[in-house]
Parts: sequence; structure tokens; C-alpha cells
Amino acid sequence: MEFQIRSRLRWGNWSGFLSQVFGQRKLLKDWRSGIMHIVIFYGFIILQFGAIDLIVKGLSQGGGHLPLPAYHLFSLSQEITVLLILLAIIYAAYRRYGERLPRLKKGWKPSIVIILISSLMFTVLFSLSFERIWFQLNPSFYAPVSSLISVAFNRLSAQTAEVLFYLFWWLHLLILLTFLVYIPQSKHFHLITAPINIWLRRTEPPGRLLSIDLEDEEAESFGAGTILDFSQKQMLDFYACVECGRCTNVCPASNTGKCSLRCISLPSCAIT
Ligand code: SF4
Repeated sequence: MEFQIRSRLRWGNWSGFLSQVFGQRKLLKDWRSGIMHIVIFYGFIILQFGAIDLIVKGLSQGGGHLPLPAYHLFSLSQEITVLLILLAIIYAAYRRYGERLPRLKKGWKPSIVIILISSLMFTVLFSLSFERIWFQLNPSFYAPVSSLISVAFNRLSAQTAEVLFYLFWWLHLLILLTFLVYIPQSKHFHLITAPINIWLRRTEPPGRLLSIDLEDEEAESFGAGTILDFSQKQMLDFYACVECGRCTNVCPASNTGKCSLRCISLPSCAIT
């Protein structure tokens, strides 16, 4: 046990962990998906500060903001990030429904998160835009997107803009909370489980199978017949699955039209 902990703390384990989690090394093997995922991953980290800032704006009756030095640069970084995330989400939808990659599942369930993320981005932009109209702020280089939208709606009165600001503010909070409820019961739980799984990854060569002791007369079953036959680490693997379908691409059973590795890792699998 002590040996295991020490081997996990070795630099090799740290560097592999950091390059996979923060460098997204494995995802970049498919560079288009990799770049899209990097934009969403880092974009969401950056936008957490924007979410707090938006909450402060609403609670301070508009016009207030986080007490940050060079706030205008912060505001510029937030709007650019929102824009990049929207582009990444459009590309994600295109890959699934436009390119129709066979490895990606279609349907309403995989679309939920695309809809939720885009709604989050639009509600941020509209809240900021209506705040500008409410306080009659001039277009600014440091708020390029919200300035543009506010110019398009500049005929609105300050009272209407205030109502619309709060409408989008509340919508934003509602979607944010929906997200928090949805994530633990969806493939997006990999936000939590994937880094843990990467930390606990196998050190032996991938694909090595454990031999089954068929001579064991005490054994009640061989291999995995029910969910209870999987180890804790294998269970964690299930929760870390993002349903990307890469295993399906290389799965011999899938190539014959039978069950794929991804099938085993999904809750809907026949293994119960
Ligand atoms: S098990 Fe398959 S579908 Fe799930 S994350 Fe791994 S490669 Fe992707």
C-alpha cells in the first residue's frame, strides 16, 4: 500500500496527470476535438469569475461589479471567452449532427448540455447588454459583444432594459443551478471523476488482461457476470466515461456489429 502511494507521488505520475488533465494530451490526438475541448475546459474556468461578477451586478441593483484592478480588461476577457465557447459549442454540434461521426451518439440527451451551455452564454451576453442600456453606457472596446447588442436594442427605455436585465439574470442563475443538478447524473460527471481516474490510472501496459484462475474451486463465477463483479476502480472507469466512442472505433466486436466497449461502460448496458 505504502509502495503504491509512493509510486503515485513520483514525478512521472504527476507529469502524466498534469499533461492529461491540464494539457489535454490524449484529447489532442484528434486535434479538432482536442482544441474544442480545451476551449470549453479553460473557458469554463475563466467564466466562473464572470458568473460571480454577474451575481454581484444583480445583487447590487446593476452597475456594480467585482472590485478588480483593471476591470475593463477582465470584462474584455469574459466577453471573448463567451464568444469562443459559443464557437466551440457550434463546432461540437456540427461534429455530432453535421459530420455525423458514427462514434458520437445522437438524440436529445447528448444535446442537453449543448443547449444548456449555449443558453448560459446567451444569458450572460444579454444581461450585460441590457445593463449597458439601463445605465446608458457608450459602446466600449472592452465590452465588444454586449456593446454591439446594446446598440441593436438602443431604442429601449431604461426601465424596460432593467426588467430585461433581471429576466436574463434570473434565467442565467436558473440554468447554472440546473447544470449543477444535471452534471452528477450525466456523462459530464467526468469533470470530477476523470481527473481522479487519471491519477489512479494503471501503470502496467494498457490492454493487459488479468488471467482467470479456472482451477479455483472456491470461485462462484468467472469473469464479470454482474455489476458486482467489477472492482471499485472499474466502477470509477464507468463514471469517467464521456461516451466519446473512441473505444468503439477500435473495438473488434463493434466492427462486427456486436456490442462495443462503450456499451459495457454505459449504464444502459445489459450488464446489471
Ligand atoms: S470508455 Fe470509450 S466512450 Fe467511454 S471515455 Fe473511454 S473511449 Fe470514450
